Amino acid sequence: MAVYRLRLLLSLNRGIHGLCTRKFCSSTAPSQIKRVGFIGLGNMGSRMADNLFKAGYNVVVHDINHDVMRAFSEKGFLVKNSPLEVAEESDAVITMLPSSAHVMDVYTGPKGILNHADQLRSWLFIDSSTIDPQTSRKLSAAVATSSLKGGSSTPAMLDAPVSGGIVSAENGTLTFMVGGSEEAYMSARPLFLSMGKNIIHCGGPGNGSAAKICNNLAMAVSMLGVSEAYSLGQSLGIGATTLTEIFNSSSARCWSSDTYNPVPGVMNGVPASRNYDGGFATKLMAKDLNLAATSAKEVGATSPMTSSALQITL
Ligand code: NAD
Repeated sequence: MAVYRLRLLLSLNRGIHGLCTRKFCSSTAPSQIKRVGFIGLGNMGSRMADNLFKAGYNVVVHDINHDVMRAFSEKGFLVKNSPLEVAEESDAVITMLPSSAHVMDVYTGPKGILNHADQLRSWLFIDSSTIDPQTSRKLSAAVATSSLKGGSSTPAMLDAPVSGGIVSAENGTLTFMVGGSEEAYMSARPLFLSMGKNIIHCGGPGNGSAAKICNNLAMAVSMLGVSEAYSLGQSLGIGATTLTEIFNSSSARCWSSDTYNPVPGVMNGVPASRNYDGGFATKLMAKDLNLAATSAKEVGATSPMTSSALQITL
């Protein structure tokens, strides 16, 4: 009873952000998002699903990891054995998976979300994984050619990768970079606001994914530049604390110097001050730089900094 009351209170509280309503087709009456499917309950997804639950949504989940499924079942979530079963139970489905191949599998695999593409119950699909814009666009087109049960309108897809890492996922302060139609974006905003703080519409399908890989490319290059400057400075006899004071009041100031400083002992509460434990893994950065390099090649853009950063990161 106590749990029910708490969830009721939280769900009323959600009214701050407004209720999710469906607006894609003016001939269809608006319907609320009540049940949200969440697929991929890893470091990020588990915390995002928890925040949706706390906000009062009914959350139905799936992951290939059975231990994770058990833990979510014990927390009171409805667990399902496949992405298709999640989609059949949900108004909207969110995916948070390691790579493009995993996302394609979850959508188009044998027990994938689009397996009964002419009979979908979910009308909104959101992929928050960091993947290449080309795959996001391909999936958006596949969703647009599917239809809902009853055939009244077309479902919509948003690519909505995040910035902020595990701490922001836990605190519900992620930044979402969203690609897709304005209507779908407006309908999904209450969901995003349950998990994040800054929600930015970047344009049409794939533009969220494009924004994310550009952000991480810029961050990788600035982090490497700052680290190289500290290394040279210290070899030339300037202490890291002095250099930090200079960078942060001069033109070198950036997130890597003033928020996530890479030198041990300069800042508290950052990975460098706890033996580089718990930060954004180099493996993930290499993945994002690879996405940037591949995308640059596809559009014929020159990207020497991406190549150098990737070489160093691998
Ligand atoms: P993770 O590896 O911790 O979690 C991925 C989850 O997906 C795992 O629980 C795994 O079992 C599950 N999974 C894999 N294949 C599946 C399938 N076919 N069906 C169902 N579940 C499946 O990864 P993460 O750190 O949570 O990152 C998720 C995404 O977010 C990645 O694309 C990553 O690049 C991006 N991202 C991560 C961070 C971060 O700090 N970790 C920050 C921003 C963005």
